[in-house]
Amino acid sequence: MTDAPKRSLPELPEPGQAHVLAEKLVRWYARHRRPLPWRRTCDPYAIWVSEVMLQQTQVATVIPYYQRFLKRFPTPQALARASADDVLRVWQGLGYYRRALNLWSACRRLMQRHRGQWPQDRQSWCRLPGVGQYTAGAILSQAFGQKVPAVDANAARVLARLFGLQIPLDRSAARRWLVQAAERLLERQTPGECNQALMELGALVCTPAEPRCPTCPLASECWARQHRRASAIPVKTRRPIVCREEVALLLHRRGRFLLTRSDPSGTDPWPGLWHFPAATLRESTSARRVLGQLAHRFGCRIGAAQELFGMQYRITRHVVAVRVFQAQAHRVGDRREGTAWLRLSDLCRRPVCAPHLRIARRLGRLARRHRQ
Ligand code: SF4
Repeated sequence: MTDAPKRSLPELPEPGQAHVLAEKLVRWYARHRRPLPWRRTCDPYAIWVSEVMLQQTQVATVIPYYQRFLKRFPTPQALARASADDVLRVWQGLGYYRRALNLWSACRRLMQRHRGQWPQDRQSWCRLPGVGQYTAGAILSQAFGQKVPAVDANAARVLARLFGLQIPLDRSAARRWLVQAAERLLERQTPGECNQALMELGALVCTPAEPRCPTCPLASECWARQHRRASAIPVKTRRPIVCREEVALLLHRRGRFLLTRSDPSGTDPWPGLWHFPAATLRESTSARRVLGQLAHRFGCRIGAAQELFGMQYRITRHVVAVRVFQAQAHRVGDRREGTAWLRLSDLCRRPVCAPHLRIARRLGRLARRHRQ
């Protein structure tokens, strides 16, 4: 194995070396893999659902959602026939809702344009909403036995340490190199098994913080282990945390609260989900002014707004502090599309974004305390 100079791409493994590594990997996988529900099927749809859910989400969190989702929508046809609200309701709590909407619209497109036939190549899969190179590779290799690599964050970390890749993994040169290295490993193996073995090794042994090198089947060939560089690889790209402030307005009228639905195809972090009117608070603008503008946007006029409580949530690298106000709506214009006046107890019938569900629960507790 070559001693790669800093910030250059290492040599790709020779076919013989790749074969030995892949053999060890697959043998280890046969003995140590976790019995996960999506590993008991070759159904492309079930594998697809699992791969979409596993993006940015832990296995233990995904399992009950995966089972519930497949029970409710057992086929791509069933998912395509459902409404966006139905899909979001079953997905509710798993986060990253655009994944659900993409999966839903990809199934609709599959039914309309492909007459329900599964695409058989990576390019066709990648034309479906939300499907990238990784997801296409995972489905094609696991469901159709095609020799297509699937390099997720776990597999990328193993490959980077194994061969000494010392540039950040989100660089395009690194991405290309990782795919080529994974392709070499697949050459003489069952592709679905080999891809999953690499990911499983990353999940169980070659973990981000403390890799368990003494138990690793690839330890004797590993560049990072030989050079004591496992903790420095993958090389990180620093992304600063962004803090911002928001106001949420609980506009009420005759015991009901105004909720609005985000545009399903917009750039909002909760596409298609319901929430209380809310807006980012800029330094130069007062909260009262923003509240007035928010109410006006929904055809309402408000008197004095009362600040109830504050809360915080985190989304990707944003930390958001929310100031929650309530105000009575005095004048209400015509009903607007994508809005609804709901009792607190009816909120659970709609897919509501997680932070605003927390607001509603806290509001419910406050109301109960007030009545006692
Ligand atoms: Fe990862 Fe250690 Fe195995 Fe290398 S030897 S692949 S660093 S677990």
